[in-house]
Amino acid sequence: MKKNKKAAEKKKEIVVRGIPASAGIAVGPAFIYSEPSYAPELRIISRKRVGSEIKRFREAIKASQRYLDKIKNESPEQLSPDYQEILQTQIDILNDDIFLKEVEQLIQDELYDAPYATYKVFRKKMGFFQNLASEYFRDRALDIQNLKRLILRHLLGKKLDVILKDKSIIVTDNLSPADTIRLHKHAVLGFCTNFGGKNSHTAIIARSLGVPAVVGTEIITTLVSPGDRLIVDGSQGLVIVNPTPETEQEFLQKQKKFILFEKSLLKEASLPAETRDGFRVKVYANIEFIEELEAIRNSGAEGIGLYRTEGLFMGGNGLPNEEEQLRNYLEIARAFKDHSVVIRTLDVGGDKIMPDFVSIPERNPFLGWRAIRFCLDHKEIFFPQLKAILRANQYGNLKILLPMVSSIEEIEQFQEVFQEAQEALKAENQEFNPNIEIGIMVEIPSAALLAEHFAEKVDFFSIGTNDLIQYTLAVDRANEKISHLYNHFHPAVIQLIKHVIDVGKSRQIPVSMCGEMAGDPVATPLLLGLGLDRFSAVHSVIPEIKQVIRNVSLKECQLLAQEALKLVKAEEVQNLCEDFYAQRFSMSAELSKPE
Ligand code: PEP
Ligand code: MG
Repeated sequence: MKKNKKAAEKKKEIVVRGIPASAGIAVGPAFIYSEPSYAPELRIISRKRVGSEIKRFREAIKASQRYLDKIKNESPEQLSPDYQEILQTQIDILNDDIFLKEVEQLIQDELYDAPYATYKVFRKKMGFFQNLASEYFRDRALDIQNLKRLILRHLLGKKLDVILKDKSIIVTDNLSPADTIRLHKHAVLGFCTNFGGKNSHTAIIARSLGVPAVVGTEIITTLVSPGDRLIVDGSQGLVIVNPTPETEQEFLQKQKKFILFEKSLLKEASLPAETRDGFRVKVYANIEFIEELEAIRNSGAEGIGLYRTEGLFMGGNGLPNEEEQLRNYLEIARAFKDHSVVIRTLDVGGDKIMPDFVSIPERNPFLGWRAIRFCLDHKEIFFPQLKAILRANQYGNLKILLPMVSSIEEIEQFQEVFQEAQEALKAENQEFNPNIEIGIMVEIPSAALLAEHFAEKVDFFSIGTNDLIQYTLAVDRANEKISHLYNHFHPAVIQLIKHVIDVGKSRQIPVSMCGEMAGDPVATPLLLGLGLDRFSAVHSVIPEIKQVIRNVSLKECQLLAQEALKLVKAEEVQNLCEDFYAQRFSMSAELSKPE
């Protein structure tokens, strides 16, 4: 015991820099979280378990077959011939008795458990195919690898199986949004990861949960051992491993200061967001989870500008049915019954993967089967969601927001499905309110450029800068290696935003912004100057955004925007906005960075 204590004392303090993803400071023990391994350890079973282990293996094969069949049969017309062929090959391999017998033989003869026997046989086959000269056979190696993962997923259970004993800071390579949601149900003080960017969905979820997070450190998992003490400074993007008692004290002080700063902002949160010269702005909240409702009410939000419904679908309890969704939407509608509540339809894909629907990873998931594209192909998922929203519109305050729209045709297809959903409700004698506005996320450059035409089809626009930046600048929002290129002050992004706001004005279509740029107080004056009058952001930043709005005049913001529009480099626009902000808000600038 004494020896251990000494060893702990000897550990050196290490400071690691990453990307600040969710503000605040966490101090506590580390919990190293790793994805369920696809390289299971060797486990020898007793002879009497052979039968049940083989049964377990056969069930995993059946589940994998069902899974592949489902994908193949669900929407055959959507699958390219290549993909159909790949699926068929994998189904054939799973039907190949000789192949499967080898696994059972290993369980029988060597007493390996099912995951290890599967791993052994599939790895051997993979190696064999990989070494063959023909490209065709090398591709089969990939099929086998995918199958190995699929079967292991069924054998090992893909659900997160973590019980944290103490409140801990999660240290991991990468976190999927689904893992973040599930881990949060345990006692999580903070997150730090090797990979990821500030606007990855994982980072956004951490902000909604109010959990400090640092992402993209590249090396944190190599430096931390289980139980090490950690500090996560999510405002500055620092992780301190095994801090000295002095450092820990220093950060506990900063933590206090940060909490006080947030509290002081909350005191004025309910004041209206109106510039000094009387320009009235609406500030709404982005919401991911129903549990945020109280914090949102306290933040001074004037409604919900974006409800990301993915949390409902990815919380680990399978797909929510229509009734479950109805209850959920109704709770939010009721909480803000005098305000508008924008519900965004399911935006899966990209970095928000629903594993049951994607057997083979897409090559470019952010350019792939995401959001409205996925939903229009999966009516069995889309339909219940639309019906639940229509039924939940009892107070007439709900609006529907469609994600990732890139073409007019998608709106036309949506209108058909929406009509069908209403017919279905009528046939079922369900009560619903069809008076509901339909809007689109403007988050793909094509939608921004065609804003004039979309204005004829929809009731409102919501600018999603997170994706608009990634698709305009061709910079993956979740890739830490290029995070320096991901910048909402890029002139091309500013031009597109301006265009959408201008179209909104001329066509009298409300335009809001719900991307993370709307929650950056440094960007607020520029956005006001461009004419934006509806902001939607995570609840924790709303009081600050409102405070910035109350302390500037529209006139000076317009001058700032005019200057910004002349610049051609992101850095120049950013410097201009930072200087403006620092001059007016030196106190906030200092306090929000707990140094
Ligand atoms: C956006 O892209 O800006 C947005 C708000 O949507 P999400 O971050 O969920 O992709
Ligand atoms: Mg988006």
